[in-house]
Amino acid sequence: MVRVEGLQKSFGSNVVLRSIDLTVMPGQVVTIIGASGSGKSTLLRCINLLETPDAGHVWFHGKDLAAEHVDINALREKIGMVFQGFNLFNNMNVLDNCTLAPVTLKKMTKGQAEKVALANLDSVGLADFAGADVNTLSGGQKQRVAIARALCMKPDLMLFDEPTSALDPEISGEVLEVMRRLASQGMTMVVVTHEMAFARSVSDEVVFMDKGVIAEKGNPEKMFTNPEKPRTREFLARYL
Ligand code: ADP
Ligand code: MG
Repeated sequence: MVRVEGLQKSFGSNVVLRSIDLTVMPGQVVTIIGASGSGKSTLLRCINLLETPDAGHVWFHGKDLAAEHVDINALREKIGMVFQGFNLFNNMNVLDNCTLAPVTLKKMTKGQAEKVALANLDSVGLADFAGADVNTLSGGQKQRVAIARALCMKPDLMLFDEPTSALDPEISGEVLEVMRRLASQGMTMVVVTHEMAFARSVSDEVVFMDKGVIAEKGNPEKMFTNPEKPRTREFLARYL
């Protein structure tokens, strides 16, 4: 689904990604962990070209996103992204948040888009909130709307950037539960998170980033019980 090879990115003299290689197979859940500033968000943003890499390649569905003839927008429509800060359109109700992109980008009729939106809102437990003003929702509800909205584009890949970091711990669970279900339904997911219990129980692979490099990656059992690198051990010790 995704192959990243030799990816490099700097902001001015700040080298943020040094040479990242990463493969995500269809149906896999890959979680990215690491300290603040290690380059996790920048890596996600390079995967859907919200940032332009300085060097290296990102392939999505076998297509090099940097190639000249590639229709980036068409590929990007197949990649859903969920951010820490929800990024909903606050001047629209829940349903309109979900139908805007399908109607404008996918050229669905309003009726088709609403049918898809209601099904996705139902799947995140918010069917009764379709007409609600986004501003009246709790953080957990907002994030579930953001997930439903992304799903309305029928993505092949979902990127999550610390989706629960802005939420109270007791609210995080309802969002993680939605993500857990999505994973079990076979969605391909790359998740940046500090929720180690989630990473351990849901991931196929855990990637530990440290200062712009992938310091270690492996299956969750190995990463959480017997990591090879001292840096990984040191990082994970903070969460025990
Ligand atoms: P993480 O998500 O792991 O916390 P980021 O990828 O957000 O890390 O950031 C890595 C580094 O890149 C930080 O030093 C951050 O300040 C810098 N950075 C990220 N985005 C930008 C940007 N748009 N402009 C300048 N510097 C940035
Ligand atoms: Mg980040």
